[in-house]
Amino acid sequence: MSQRRVLSGGITQESHSFNPILTRRDRFTIVSGQHAVESNRGTNSIFGGVVDSAKEADVELIVPTLFRAESGGPVEDKVFSEVCDAMLHAAKRGDFDAVVLPLHGGMLTETLSDPEGVLFERLREVVGKDVPITAAFDLHAYVKESTLRPLDFLAGYLTNPHEDQAATAKRAFHAAIAMLDGRLDPVLAATFLPMLTLGNDTTLDGPLVDIHEYARTAIDSGQAYDVSIFNAQQFLDVPHLGQVVLAYGNGDLEEPRKVANEVMHMLWDNRDLLIGKYPDLGKELKGIDDSNRTIILGDQGDRVAAGGPGDSTYILNYLLDSRIDAETYFPIFDPTAVAECERVGVGGEITLTFGGNYSTHSPKITAEGVVINLGQAAPVVYDGPCDAGTKTSIERFAIFRMNNISVLLTNQPYAFIDPDYFRAVGLPPEKAKIIVTRSGYHYALNFASTGRCVTVDTPGMTSYFVNQFTWNKARPFYPIDNIGYAPRQFSRRRH
Ligand SMILES: [Zn+2]
Repeated sequence: MSQRRVLSGGITQESHSFNPILTRRDRFTIVSGQHAVESNRGTNSIFGGVVDSAKEADVELIVPTLFRAESGGPVEDKVFSEVCDAMLHAAKRGDFDAVVLPLHGGMLTETLSDPEGVLFERLREVVGKDVPITAAFDLHAYVKESTLRPLDFLAGYLTNPHEDQAATAKRAFHAAIAMLDGRLDPVLAATFLPMLTLGNDTTLDGPLVDIHEYARTAIDSGQAYDVSIFNAQQFLDVPHLGQVVLAYGNGDLEEPRKVANEVMHMLWDNRDLLIGKYPDLGKELKGIDDSNRTIILGDQGDRVAAGGPGDSTYILNYLLDSRIDAETYFPIFDPTAVAECERVGVGGEITLTFGGNYSTHSPKITAEGVVINLGQAAPVVYDGPCDAGTKTSIERFAIFRMNNISVLLTNQPYAFIDPDYFRAVGLPPEKAKIIVTRSGYHYALNFASTGRCVTVDTPGMTSYFVNQFTWNKARPFYPIDNIGYAPRQFSRRRH
């Protein structure tokens, strides 16, 4: 048998409907071909899992293009079209056995609410029904019938904070190979419920531990081939936003249907417990001046990791108002302030106004300080474990120093989920007493050895106070609306 080939690549981003900043091409890290393969080998990224599985199975990968960006506002239509065109152009050559796509699943474009489904459907039209198409998604994906109809198999992360990116891609890859070998006839039982988890959706403790344990037991006992539980990204104003459970059987629908229904029932029964509360910023910072431990704060209300703008001043205003005197690293998105620092250069003393252009819960800051560093294309390699080994860069930055605070101004929003973002700009994490990140879960994995990680209750576009938004398409959903338990169901056979 000649060596098998798999088509992979695509576009991955998580969108926030209420973030007005469109995600343009310059926010994406773009790789293709052999460079894409080599630069992701051995990483705990979703594409890294595809690369390593291919190597293990002696499969050659074809990667026309792979666009990856951090979360943010919806993606420009023309960026999505560019990726689709590249993938379809390669698909039309037909010189491969299967398609395995490492995506997020929670992306929107200016006009599309299910771009991933559109990509799958267009690929399906080209490759026909016999070529397996599988995909791996983030646990926060927005999965719907249109996503599932063209797909033979979909796997979602089982962890939040996410640490099984590569393992999830391996499930998708192995399913494609098993179909080619005739060992797998995937039959999908899907169930959907318009209910949001809001703040207590970690898989480290709480209700999701037991729910995932139930799913794992169902797989171990042969009731299902694979189970994914999607706790949808909460800031998508799209029809039928909510929880989605997928259970795949191997030729059988009845048992996976029972599993999917039971998992959804467990989510519903625990709905009140899946709404969390976050600690108070002031309480967490008490005594920080005298402490010799670093605290890493997740800015719950402005998580770029969940699509927030990354320019909230709330925590910095709190530090200034309460006169906390501790070495602090505070990152903030403000391209105009970066340009102003570039204009005066390193060593320049200026009065700078920054932040609060999109996050309006807390006023802009105007302060005197000195520019201590400037740079561009600063390379970042994630320590992990979340996305370990992932390579990216900070496009342009300036460090504006005011008293003990290094304000890290960037011309693009970043979630700062990994300590290497700070090293990359000359701010050693171990030298800070307070480090602020724009993440709620994932940073806590990667900063675990730096200090104590606490996600604090702050206002903003990614606060779980979802009543702050004017929803047009997603409602009714729990907990805003008084809905009953009436899940929708969907099933799919391959042939
Ligand atoms: Zn996620």
